[in-house]
Amino acid sequence: MQIVCLDLEGVLVPEIWIAFAERTGIPELRRTTRDEPDYDKLMKYRLGILAEKKLGLPDIQDVIGGLSPLPGAAEFVDWLRRDFQVVILSDTFYEFAAPLMKQLGSPTLFCHRLEADGSGMLVDYHLRMPDQKREAVKAFKALNFRTIAAGDSYNDTAMLGEANAGILFCPPDNVVREFPQFPVARDYAVLKDEILAASGRIGE
Ligand SMILES: [Mg+2]
Repeated sequence: MQIVCLDLEGVLVPEIWIAFAERTGIPELRRTTRDEPDYDKLMKYRLGILAEKKLGLPDIQDVIGGLSPLPGAAEFVDWLRRDFQVVILSDTFYEFAAPLMKQLGSPTLFCHRLEADGSGMLVDYHLRMPDQKREAVKAFKALNFRTIAAGDSYNDTAMLGEANAGILFCPPDNVVREFPQFPVARDYAVLKDEILAASGRIGE
């Protein structure tokens, strides 16, 4: 049995922090893992700005409630789930992702959680574990699953390397340059072809 592990933001849904930065007019919040590979540094930076601007979880959830998956994403996930077990491995948070996951047919999601105080201000974040994307793929392999992984950014490359097959989806040029070992898909039709090709290559 084969499992396909997909990143969420940049693959199936827009970058949530960028959408929030645009809506609130706070350009500093546009930084993502594409710009800052150190995730802890990036999160502390984000929480610091939110505290400074006095924006809490309800403000962020307001914006996320108005977002949709990327065009074609829901159909792609439907197609994929017909022939594969699908697990979304994301560095987002359950508190953020819920409305978008519903629009994708609620596939399995492994991600992190946020801690808010009584007034909704975000005071901390909790990773379920360090390097969870890669650890999840490792665990699937230990359970005798073959895995195919697709993601767009730095925080996906360990997962792509750990999987039996890794695919970059709409990555920025610097990631393509630094990780030439992975095939690149820039739309869902090509991603489907790459997944089917990998599926035939890696064995049951
Ligand atoms: Mg991503």
